[in-house]
Order: sequence, then C-alpha cells, then structure tokens
Amino acid sequence: MAGPNVIVNIDKIEANARSITSMCGDYGIEVTGVTKVTCGMPSVARALLRGGVKGIGESRLENVHRLRANGIVDEMMLLRIPPLSETDEIVRSVDISLNSELSVIRSLSRAAEEHGLVHNVILMIDLGDLREGLWPEDVLPAARETLELPNLKLKGVGTNLTCYGGVIPTEKNMLQLVDWAHRIEDTFGVKLETISGGNSSSLPLLKKGNMPQGVNHLRIGEALMLGRETVHRSAWPGTSQDAFLLEAELIELKKKPSVPIGETGEDAFGKTPTFEDKGKILRGILNIGREDVDVEGLQPVAPQQRILGASSDHLLVDLSPDYEKGEQEQSDLEQAGPQRLELGDKVAFRMNYSALLAAMTSAYVSKREIGAEPEGGQRTVLRFFGGNLSRDPDSAFHRTLRSIGYRVVSSSDSIKPGRELQTAIAGCVQNNCMPVLCGQEQLSPDGFTACTRSIENAGLLWLSPGAGIIGDKKSSPAGSLGQLLQGENEHYLSPAADNIVLVGLREVGEREAGIIRRLGITVYTMEDIDSLGISAVLRKALQRAVIGTRGVYVYFDERLADGGQEGLTNRETHLAMEMIARSGFMRVLDVSGAHTGGRSGSKLKKFVASALGKRILGP
Ligand SMILES: *Cc1c(COP(=O)(O)O)cnc(C)c1O
Repeated sequence: MAGPNVIVNIDKIEANARSITSMCGDYGIEVTGVTKVTCGMPSVARALLRGGVKGIGESRLENVHRLRANGIVDEMMLLRIPPLSETDEIVRSVDISLNSELSVIRSLSRAAEEHGLVHNVILMIDLGDLREGLWPEDVLPAARETLELPNLKLKGVGTNLTCYGGVIPTEKNMLQLVDWAHRIEDTFGVKLETISGGNSSSLPLLKKGNMPQGVNHLRIGEALMLGRETVHRSAWPGTSQDAFLLEAELIELKKKPSVPIGETGEDAFGKTPTFEDKGKILRGILNIGREDVDVEGLQPVAPQQRILGASSDHLLVDLSPDYEKGEQEQSDLEQAGPQRLELGDKVAFRMNYSALLAAMTSAYVSKREIGAEPEGGQRTVLRFFGGNLSRDPDSAFHRTLRSIGYRVVSSSDSIKPGRELQTAIAGCVQNNCMPVLCGQEQLSPDGFTACTRSIENAGLLWLSPGAGIIGDKKSSPAGSLGQLLQGENEHYLSPAADNIVLVGLREVGEREAGIIRRLGITVYTMEDIDSLGISAVLRKALQRAVIGTRGVYVYFDERLADGGQEGLTNRETHLAMEMIARSGFMRVLDVSGAHTGGRSGSKLKKFVASALGKRILGP
C-alpha cells in the first residue's frame, strides 16, 4: 500500500462507546455518538451504535448522506447550526437539528411541511462560551414560535461549551440549562424530552457526580474516538487512546548530525528553527508531511522516538535509541534484531483531535479498518450480474478489484431475466453487496426495478449522452428510463424526480425535454461540464441525487466517454468515477449495454474499477 495510512481499530471504538455509554447510563444520560472527525465513516458509526450510543451526530450533510447510503438508518442529529440555504436538504436528511436562529427555524418548518415530515428542533442556549446559541432573553420567544410552527417538534434545549471560549461545564451553568428547560415547560405547558448538556468536556462533571438532575443527553465525539475528556485532555478510564494510529513509511534512514551545517535562515514555512546539539543521531524521513496531517498533533507510539520537524511532504524523526542509556547499551539496542528499524519499515503515531481530523480528511492518507466487524457490516462483496465483464477470476480486472478490498462473485448466467434476476439483485443490495450490472440492454430494467423496490428511497445518477427517456425501441425495448419512471399512464414511479440527475446530455428530443421539465428532473449538459468543469458538476449532481435517500443508483453509458470528441475525455471520466467512489453514495453500478470486449472493454473495466474505489495512488 503506497502512502501513509490511518489504522482504524473498530473494536476499540466499540469498546470505548460501551464504556462511556454505560457510565452515562448510570446517570440517566443518553449519548449521541459524533462521527464528524472521521468524515462520517460508516464502520465507525456502526461500532458506536453497537457500543450503545442512541444515534449519530454529524456536522456536515455530506457525511450524513454517506452514512445513510451505507445503511445507517438510526436517529441522525445535525450538530452545526443549519444554513438558511439548506433547510430543505436538512429536513429530508436528518431527524434532529440544533438551532439558534428563528428565520432558520421558520424555514425548517416550511420545508418539513412541503415534504410532509416532522422535524425535531433542539434550541441551543449560549451559556457564555460564545459560539452558537440563543442569548437567554431570546429563549422564551424562540420556544413560543417553534411550538406554534407547523411540522416542527420542540424536542428540547441544549448548550455547547469548551469550544470557542473554553468555558468549562459546571454545576452552575448546567443548572441554568435545566432551569431554562423548566421555564419553557411551565410557560407553555409542554414537556421537553431532551436536555443536552454538551460534549466530551461534560464527562468530568458527570463522573464527579455533580451533573444536575434533568440533564439527560450528551453529544460525545472525542472521548469515543480518542479516549479523552476535553477539559484537561486526560485519558478517560476504561477507554483506549489508540483506536486511531497513523502509519508512515521510512524513505530515508541515516546517521547525521543533529544541527544543520552552514548559515541558517527561515525554513520552508517562514519560521526560524533552533536546534539542540546532540552529536550524530539516527534520522528518519517519513513519507508524510504538513499537507496530510497536523504535525504538532502527532506523537510517536514508541516512547524514545521524537519528531524533529516537517515540510509539506516529509516528516523528520529522531530514531536514535534511548539517550538516557550509555553508549554500550545504545549500540546493543541498535543491534537488537526486531527493534531495529530499516528503510521501508512503518513508524506509528498517535494523533490528537486536529491531527486526526486532517488525516481523515486528506485524500493522500488511506484509511484501513481493523477489527472484527460482524458479517454484513462492510460492503466488501461485489457481484457481477450478466454480461461479460470478465468471468475470469484470474484476470487483471478481478485482481484489481480484490486489491481494493472486494470479494468478487462472478456473473451468474443461469439466472433468468425478470423476477428471478430482480430477486437476486435485491438480495445483493440488501446484504451489503455491491451489484455491478452489465446486461445487454441499455440500463438494466431488472436492476432498476430491484433497486427501487429494495432500497427505500434511492437516487438516480444517470451518466449518458442521451436522456433515454423515450428510448431506442430497437436496442432497448424495455430499458428506457422514461418507461421505468412513468409506468403505463405516465404515472410517476420512483425514485422521486427530486433525486434524478442526468449528467452529460448532448442530444435531447423535444418530447424528452418536455418530460424532463414537467417532472423537474435536474440536468447537467455537456455545455455545463464545459463551463463548470466535471468535478464541480459531479459534486452538485451527487449531492442532488442523494438528498434524503438511502443511496444512489449509478448508470454509466460508455458512449459518454468518447475520448473527449463530443463527450468526456478519459481523465474526466476517471475523475467522475473516483468522485462517485469517494462519496460513498453508490449502491448499484449499472453499465448495461456496454461493449465489454476488446479495447473499449478494457477501458470500461478501468472506469468501473475507478467507480469502485481504485485510486492512482492505490489502494
Ligand atoms: C463536535 C460537537 C460535539 C462533540 O464534541 P466532542 O468534543 O468531540 O465530544 C458536540 N456538540 C456539537 C454542537 C459539536 O459541534
């Protein structure tokens, strides 16, 4: 595996969750598990849920969509105050949001009404930390209006401390929160379900037994992930501090002086470095740098190792054996077989919160999960249906797919089209398997039907030069999008038009254009791609297709990638596919109707591999 990676120990995260939720449970407190530092990693969310958290808290909608597309159907809470522009997406994607602005709350109500949903609101109260929250005098009016607005439920109140101002949760400020809850209850004759007393910084107060009665909910991230409370950053009893480790590879290992030779000025980041002379030391260079992590937040796992500094792409470490030991012992240690590091070996680091966030966000750092996640957790089985996308398990194509972590199950020709095939595909989708459909007709009608029936709410991302709404009667009698969407009397089926996005169109008939407009389907033409770029278009298209769904059906028509004549260049296609993979939104990949032999077949296989997660930098 090239490049640095984060090792995510799923079992330790689950154990951390068990330990913290059981302690909180003793005090009558429920925990929402916050996954934002992992960018909404589904396996981490599942570990937290197994460990006893009540639901998942996220600050970004993209992470919410990734979790939903990967089977997390549990209660989802949006932690960051909603932007006015996204209220529609929010009511469709999360169950609860934390709020402090009346205009946003009104907009949430309108959106929930429009979609026939009930959205839960927690009013945030600022108790002095000066990040989000209503100023106390505004609490009662806000509660009144929230209670009066349709399709909203005032679920409770909450506060956030130790984030901006560093204000520590105390009995006093927690009592204020409980007091506000009671005032709302008394004034309006309602009962509030939730009094949410904060984040990981509330744990010490709880442990001391000083959390006031009434506080019944916490939103916990750091303590679950890194096993630390956040007032003093001390290790939390019963948790592991190394559920996440960063590993990088030694690319140079040499004995060199500890002080640079020659006149010194500023380093690459404009700072003037200072050095302590320790004579010659064993210096290692690792293939990771400031572009990937927050170097200040790293700590080598081995106690005698020390970080010397870093540039964008290099991390320098002192790997000399223990200084406290005498020369003889040092050289003994250096010789001591397995402990001795060699070029190519990995060096491991613990990370603080900001280093972890940076590493999880960096596209240059791969993430490797370890631990025994129960069967069916991860989507690691890939099953081909129909077509000739390489039946040969020894082919380079299958090897590539295995190298990115899939167990590949080959095409099963004996399955009859129609009901039987639909059942097989639905079974695959429901059992966390990724179906890759390569039938004869353009768009697999069976795949599409199976998917719309077995995924409650799927989006459709259609990558093709044509809308396929009317369909080419000769080549695809049953496979036109229009027929599938509109049923007999143009009666509209599923997915919802809101979640259908067509990308790459360059020829649309008048009747088709009419249908697209009438249904309100989102379209990005080749013209849009020319002017906005494929990456901007794909980002918007994916977002649009996934809102409020449990994942996206991706149909890719190979004619779209014509080497850049009228359609996409090969690189643009790969980029589009890589973005689909990275989003984690895809539930089904349909390349039906493609030529799977010869040169165009081998190009298609590369596109398919990209869509399934193959990266240039591997894995
Ligand atoms: C991030 C966040 C949390 C979790 O904080 P930790 O310190 O990681 O426990 C809780 N509430 C809100 C509003 C947050 O943004």
